[in-house]
Amino acid sequence: MANRDQLKAVGEMCPDFSYDDSLGKASMMSIADSSSRSCEICTHWDVKNQKCRIDVFDDVLTSLDQT
Ligand code: SF4
Repeated sequence: MANRDQLKAVGEMCPDFSYDDSLGKASMMSIADSSSRSCEICTHWDVKNQKCRIDVFDDVLTSLDQT
């Protein structure tokens, strides 16, 4: 299972990242800075199953490993 560091690293780099509006506007400001992005605040993140709904997590993680 992905750890928190991976969720952050992938969230920062993911081309499909989309902010989850249901989390409220208060945190909106902080994500203007890409370094505070994370899968955990992405609309595609399935919190219950701890996985990416559109299945790009592994692809992004793999591309991170190659840099
Ligand atoms: S949940 Fe999926 S789409 Fe969202 S940032 Fe993570 S890998 Fe990208």
